[in-house]
Amino acid sequence: MDDKLQKLKTYLQQCDLDVISKSYEYASCAHSYQIRASGEPYLSHCVSVASNLADIKMDAATISAALLHDILEDTLVTEQELVKEFGEEVVSLVKGVTKLNKYSFDDNITEQAENWRKMLLAVVKDIRVIIIKLADRLHNMRTLKYLSPEKQKNVAAESLTLYAPFAHRLGIYKWKSELEDLAFETLQPVEYNKIKTQWEKRAESNVGNLTEFENKLKEIIAPSGINFRILARPKNLYGIYKKMERQNKPFSAIEDLFGLRIITDTVEHSYEILSIINSRFKLVDGSFTDYINVPKENMYQSLHLTIISDKNVMVETQIRTEEMHQRAEYGVAAHWRYKRKIEPGNAATYKEDKVNKTAEDKLDWLKQFLEWQRDTTDSSEFLSSLETECNFEQVFVFTPQKKVIKLPLGATALDFAYAVHSDIGDKFMGAIVNGKMSTIDTKLKTGDVCEILTRKNVKPSQNWLKFAITAQARSRIRRRLRENENKSKE
Ligand code: MN
Repeated sequence: MDDKLQKLKTYLQQCDLDVISKSYEYASCAHSYQIRASGEPYLSHCVSVASNLADIKMDAATISAALLHDILEDTLVTEQELVKEFGEEVVSLVKGVTKLNKYSFDDNITEQAENWRKMLLAVVKDIRVIIIKLADRLHNMRTLKYLSPEKQKNVAAESLTLYAPFAHRLGIYKWKSELEDLAFETLQPVEYNKIKTQWEKRAESNVGNLTEFENKLKEIIAPSGINFRILARPKNLYGIYKKMERQNKPFSAIEDLFGLRIITDTVEHSYEILSIINSRFKLVDGSFTDYINVPKENMYQSLHLTIISDKNVMVETQIRTEEMHQRAEYGVAAHWRYKRKIEPGNAATYKEDKVNKTAEDKLDWLKQFLEWQRDTTDSSEFLSSLETECNFEQVFVFTPQKKVIKLPLGATALDFAYAVHSDIGDKFMGAIVNGKMSTIDTKLKTGDVCEILTRKNVKPSQNWLKFAITAQARSRIRRRLRENENKSKE
């Protein structure tokens, strides 16, 4: 088997490796006459996709399906033959990817959004299909330069609008940032190169300071006897660009370009390290966020803080446990790694249940999102909802009963009402935010306490769509509007 797949041996069993070898040989034969735009044999693409999936330690069926993912589309091999060789599980994954492929490389991105929605509904039964598709897209983006300039732009735009948000939502942060940076380079080469050069310059002038700072950190944490390691965190250039745009600042005004991660063994030790750092360094005001106590929607957990070093360099720092780190890197994929290994009654069972639940939650999110979008005929609506729902900038707002409601940044009192209950949203009359009477379009902040006033005979109006940003609220309002319309026709 290919060298790129040797890493499978670190986490799969021999019987799994045998099936994968067989898939490899099979794909090698079936694609033997094909070459890619890069001039490489087609098989190299299949191997790269499988290798991406091995990086996030996906299960054997997913790796086999990755090796075979283009076989039904591009060769004479039939579905029946594949089932006979590899069984239903692998083939259903291959079929799912093939379905998604039918809709790639179109020129109109909003038309594609509609296709995506239909296809996702069809494949949502198994989230692994989407993960294979993401790995496929990642390799296509890495080898983009061999396509025509026009095609390059289309594929890059699609990656930025559809694939990167999905990778983000599934918590596969590594893929998300690579997809973004590759797309950014293709779509805005001038801006990309400008930021890249500036970043490299800044990194160079700071490299001494950073090493010194890292050593200082090690020195002050060591006496506690806590187990820890420090990792440098690569920066996502597209993220920097977005930040400059959002805050309307030039590159020179962006401070927190350097990141470190401190990985330790337990939650208690994470907080202990935090307090050690706190007692020795200054933090940037308002930079501390506790995502351990309040995890992000994708189950991400870490302590976030920006430390000001003795040399006045701002260092974005994350403190987390090994388990949180794995989840942050692998996201939803973490689930499949635990699938087979754990015996009932074993101490690890609890962990497995928790991880399984994470993966199921994500699938639930996707199902729920598609359900909300079921009646949407407008593709730009689908795209902007996808963007809102994939956005992890969240606010936490309280009901008068102290229940926390998580909302995307920019959500209004009306969104809040719908998040509490769709009936409450439908009867929205007004909101009291922190004791003050507020309007329907009031944007809520973390820590706000919001009470919704309702009235029986209120009905959602067309206007409400201007005030609601969440997919949940918007789909409900649209449904109500349509119902009322039908009623008045009768
Ligand atoms: Mn492919």
